[in-house]
Amino acid sequence: MTLTYDHQTADGTTAQSLLHPIGHYIAGSWQPPVSSQWLDVVDPSTGAAVGRIAAGDADDIALAVKAARASFDSGIWSGLAPSDRATVLRSAARLVAEQTTLLATIESIDSGKPIKEAEGDIAGVVDVLDYFAGAATKVVGQTMSLPEAQLGIVLREPVGVVGAITPWNFPLYVAVWKAAAALSVGCTVVLKPSELASITCLHLGELMTKAGLPDGALNVVSGLGATAGAPLSLHGDVDMLTFTGSTATGSKIMEARARRALPLQVELGGKSPLVVFADADIATAADAAAFGAFFAQGENCNAGSRILVERSIASEFVRRLVSVAEAIRIGAPLDQKTELGSLISPEHLAKVEGFVDRARASGVTVACGGSRVTIAGCEGGSFYRPTVLTDVGRDHEVFTEEIFGPVVTVTVFDSEIEAADLANATVYGLAAGVWTQDIDRAFRMTRTIRSGYVWINTYNTTPVEAPFGGVKRSGFGRDTAMQAIDNYLVWKTVAISTVPFAGWYRASARDLDTVGTEREVVSDE
Ligand code: NAD
Repeated sequence: MTLTYDHQTADGTTAQSLLHPIGHYIAGSWQPPVSSQWLDVVDPSTGAAVGRIAAGDADDIALAVKAARASFDSGIWSGLAPSDRATVLRSAARLVAEQTTLLATIESIDSGKPIKEAEGDIAGVVDVLDYFAGAATKVVGQTMSLPEAQLGIVLREPVGVVGAITPWNFPLYVAVWKAAAALSVGCTVVLKPSELASITCLHLGELMTKAGLPDGALNVVSGLGATAGAPLSLHGDVDMLTFTGSTATGSKIMEARARRALPLQVELGGKSPLVVFADADIATAADAAAFGAFFAQGENCNAGSRILVERSIASEFVRRLVSVAEAIRIGAPLDQKTELGSLISPEHLAKVEGFVDRARASGVTVACGGSRVTIAGCEGGSFYRPTVLTDVGRDHEVFTEEIFGPVVTVTVFDSEIEAADLANATVYGLAAGVWTQDIDRAFRMTRTIRSGYVWINTYNTTPVEAPFGGVKRSGFGRDTAMQAIDNYLVWKTVAISTVPFAGWYRASARDLDTVGTEREVVSDE
């Protein structure tokens, strides 16, 4: 089946109508942008403007943060029983599940990804909402015995208003990682999705209201990074900022928040190695390597974009990898048969192409791909063939820089030590893959590779049950699993005395009272 813009849900909502939101979603309703400015929604696969979103700025952000603050301070959400918060998140999961086809269609139109992958994203969104519904009732503090016969009770409290700034590659999925985790523990949220793919996130605002979320608990403001993202990241009433995006933008935001001593958590770029040892099943490893590199057009933070392969199997491995890459069906994103869609924009396509052209000019072998492709009916799109670059040295920019497109490098190694060294030869540390049948080696590599995730004989799976996030310049904090809620909770220690206060000074106020002195006692009260 090929889906269309006219896809409609049972309640009459169409993709067309969602592509024209009335504005931002603030305090439980649609709000036109204060500036009356709008941005085009462009279908990357055709280059056509197919809708519009509000071009938010500091004024819209101020309204959204005010709504989130009021909602948080009122206790209408933060003070709700965790089980009641769980009920709302669970019913949001059901609403998203019911609208899977519509949401996947929108995601595919907005981001250029194949509908098959977009459907997977939405199934992931349902899982994430369900998971954090469960998490709501699992937040536990601590008790302890303290010196001087005090009883310590350590509470875990929601941090307050959370600002979330998210990228375009997994628009709703990454947004829900943050929003669901923050909401589950009682925080309220202002979400600023990427200007390149905001529609499903805006729609989420309305879905959450339908699920029973009180007004103001989730606000979604669309707009550019500089005009909407920056004011959100700097707003003094945003108690915690969570960001996923490029390392360059993340650094800028970290710097700006550091100047105000405001906390944040970031998930940034990657340049993940996939190490294939000679004892691996070559055909399966090549298949998985292609999946690691080309899934989501390679516009994937944890793409296995650097393949390291043991010399004795290198030529056979490359032969198989190339044959898988060349068989990938590039096509219209809404076509169910499509396996590789459009890159997000002509500018991004030019950037990806520039990397490959410079590599070719410098003597790197382009084993396959390395060119644009025109798709019938999508002539204005940004399609690029799955590309395998071989003979790539460790200092080459295609080995060190995040390309964020369907481009993978292959570098040969001769020993396990060299493989580990090459794997770690990056400023990033998001993910890694190891293909081997030797379990001891698999564990040795796991311990040596510095990354937030290591896949052994598999790649790319990121279930919500396991923590996902980076080390080194890939960021800090985790966006999934129970570790995610740590971003949105603060510890509060309560120390309760179980015996009379012993007194600190030589003559305590208590002693003086008992001998009837008139000396004034200064208290903090
Ligand atoms: P980006 O950094 O360009 O934009 C991310 C978000 O930041 C967008 O919403 C954008 O509007 C906003 N933004 C831009 N400038 C800003 C500013 N000055 N102040 C505040 N906000 C600003 O990233 P992108 O191109 O949308 O996404 C691709 C990048 O995201 C890649 O580097 C990829 O590796 C990374 N990513 C990481 C993960 C992860 O979990 N580590 C997941 C997905 C994507």
